[in-house]
Amino acid sequence: MKKVSIILFALFLAFSTFAGCKKKNENKETPVTPETPETHTHDWGEVTYTWSSDNLSCTATRVCKGDASHKEEETKAATYKVSVEAECEKEGKGTYTVSFTNEAFASQVKEVSISALGHDWEGATYEWAEDYSSCTATRVCSRDHEHVETETIEPTLNQKLPTEDEDGLNTYTVTFQNAAFTSQTEEVLVPSLPTLSKLEFTYHAPETEDDEAYYSVKALNTEISGRVTIPLTYKGESDEEAIQVTRIDAEGFRNCAEITYVNIPGSIDTIGSDYAFAGCEKLETLILNEGIKVVGRRAFQNCYSLKSLYLPASLESTGRQGFQSCQTLETVIFAEGSNVSIIESNSFANTILKEIIIPNKVVEIGGNAFYNCELLEKITIPDTVTKIGTNAFNYCTNLTAIDYEGTKEQWSNIALSDGWKGSSLTTIHCSDGDITL
Ligand SMILES: [Zn+2]
Ligand SMILES: [Zn+2]
Repeated sequence: MKKVSIILFALFLAFSTFAGCKKKNENKETPVTPETPETHTHDWGEVTYTWSSDNLSCTATRVCKGDASHKEEETKAATYKVSVEAECEKEGKGTYTVSFTNEAFASQVKEVSISALGHDWEGATYEWAEDYSSCTATRVCSRDHEHVETETIEPTLNQKLPTEDEDGLNTYTVTFQNAAFTSQTEEVLVPSLPTLSKLEFTYHAPETEDDEAYYSVKALNTEISGRVTIPLTYKGESDEEAIQVTRIDAEGFRNCAEITYVNIPGSIDTIGSDYAFAGCEKLETLILNEGIKVVGRRAFQNCYSLKSLYLPASLESTGRQGFQSCQTLETVIFAEGSNVSIIESNSFANTILKEIIIPNKVVEIGGNAFYNCELLEKITIPDTVTKIGTNAFNYCTNLTAIDYEGTKEQWSNIALSDGWKGSSLTTIHCSDGDITL
């Protein structure tokens, strides 16, 4: 009997230690012999949620108030979603979400801000005002073309003034406040001044009521050298106002062997009736401005230093023997829309042209026009041409083929004189096939 009592007491002790946290109100004064062991019911405290520092996981924890060693804990990986996209200048939002298996733990959401992206600037562009009074720098964001940075600056001007003998130079420079924009420099050539001191002007009174007075011009003497820039207008001592200079006298600059540069304004409708600049042996640069209509006979014959030539659209005539024997002339370009209708006879004879494109208002290529152009290899003839004169291409020893823009039938209708003697011409490439000669 005594043994049984001891066992029971030991059991009671063991139980009461375990159950102690649950039933605090239990009357310890009246120990009774428990018949069935009481089960412990946890008294959970608040759940705490702890996010990892990178927000990629969250841990939920709760602890039993009755016994801090009773603890439930669960760690779950979070899912991430961008809820508001970041923009160049605006933060976005991202959301981490985690759900737990234990129903006692609530899903957790954590919102984080996403830094604004900043602009993604494309390369800057720079645009000068037409008169160089300002320069505008602009850059645009690749993410949104309405994000634009722009700055307009007035340039500083460094001027080298033109003289009669030298071009001037205007150097415009802008430096922007915005460090993203680089300084810009623009150099603008200022043409040399009209060379009044080297020229002589002759007044021509109107002959009829419909005529207007004009000046013609020529060199003061054949000793003049360097640059000649002919003015558009001239004002003589008795003139009330400046009058147009429209003519270059026949032989006006003939044999001015020291001239290197000639600039002829568009007011000139006729460049000499004969030999205007013939024999200007050192003439390298010839500027024929838009407006000039006629290159007179032999106007630039024997200008041995002239290498290239640009003929303005206004020009109607290349002049008989106009550029004949310009022995270094290798490039002639007719402006687009050229009004030349006849390549006058001997115009380019004895030059070293390699290629020529006849403009498409030309109806006639004159006799001897390209006579003895030994280096001429390529020529393009438009279908407007109806006549090719005698000896037009004689002794063009390198010319083997012609590019003709018309048909074979059109070619056969061209009035051909003996145009090809001494050339190597064998083929006419027509628009609808080749003609073999
Ligand atoms: Zn507990
Ligand atoms: Zn932007």
